[in-house]
Amino acid sequence: MARVALVTGGSRGIGAAISVALKAAGYKVAANYAGNDEAAAAFTKETGIPTFKWSVADYDACVAGIAKVEAEVGPVDVLVNNAGITRDAMFHKMTPQQWKEVIDTNLTGLFNMTHPLWSGMRDRKFGRVINISSINGQKGQAGQANYSAAKSGDLGFTKALAQEGARAGITVNAICPGYIATEMVKAIDEKVLAERIIPQIPVGRLGEPEEIARTVVFLASDDAGFITGSTISANGGQFFV
Ligand code: NDP
Repeated sequence: MARVALVTGGSRGIGAAISVALKAAGYKVAANYAGNDEAAAAFTKETGIPTFKWSVADYDACVAGIAKVEAEVGPVDVLVNNAGITRDAMFHKMTPQQWKEVIDTNLTGLFNMTHPLWSGMRDRKFGRVINISSINGQKGQAGQANYSAAKSGDLGFTKALAQEGARAGITVNAICPGYIATEMVKAIDEKVLAERIIPQIPVGRLGEPEEIARTVVFLASDDAGFITGSTISANGGQFFV
């Protein structure tokens, strides 16, 4: 029977590529999103992948949303915590609201999504949790104290949970993308991108969402059963740990 995969922020950008790649690999896929109904409807029309709207920053909404997904698609075997936002500002100008929104979505969102699914994965003795962190969680980035803190927290969460899930057949891993060509990155000033960002990437280009998606498909597979607690850097050689 086909395994079920739930991808948060799965209707746009990297998440959309992950949803599509998992479907192509034979999974029954559900894609969550936050508010862009138009993009979600277009995505479902194009791919046939159902979309479910709730905010990963809201625990009760996650519990209700997951119940709906499990009723309509089936018990979730693979969770991809991909939803993320930026609210960039230099620290002296960063507002408590900018800090909170990013932590709530990019860090607490992982708790909110993984916690309601954990018992089911333990009972069924199989699970894959794949967290999309960031190069900026590994190295830190000026103007992103909130985002870097959240994404770094995602890596600690991954390592701790990997130890708890191991005996229950659940692997927990993280991927740290570098700069990937999505709306989040295209929002960066073109001059900054061309003159300051791309020259820092040894392969000389932005990554493609599909390159992250293929890494997710591998980590979700039975072939990756011995890999847990790992962080895979996918950044064109920009940063090594
Ligand atoms: P996009 O902005 O293109 O897409 C973000 C997705 O997340 C959308 O589907 C959006 O939903 C959803 N989302 C945002 N907030 C919430 C929320 N509270 N609850 C549920 N869904 C939410 O982002 P990317 O594809 O660029 O990024 C995907 C992930 O990869 C993020 O975690 C990001 O931090 C990480 N990343 C991205 C990099 C890049 O270069 N692009 C580099 C490193 C990491 P909606 O459509 O409704 O708005």
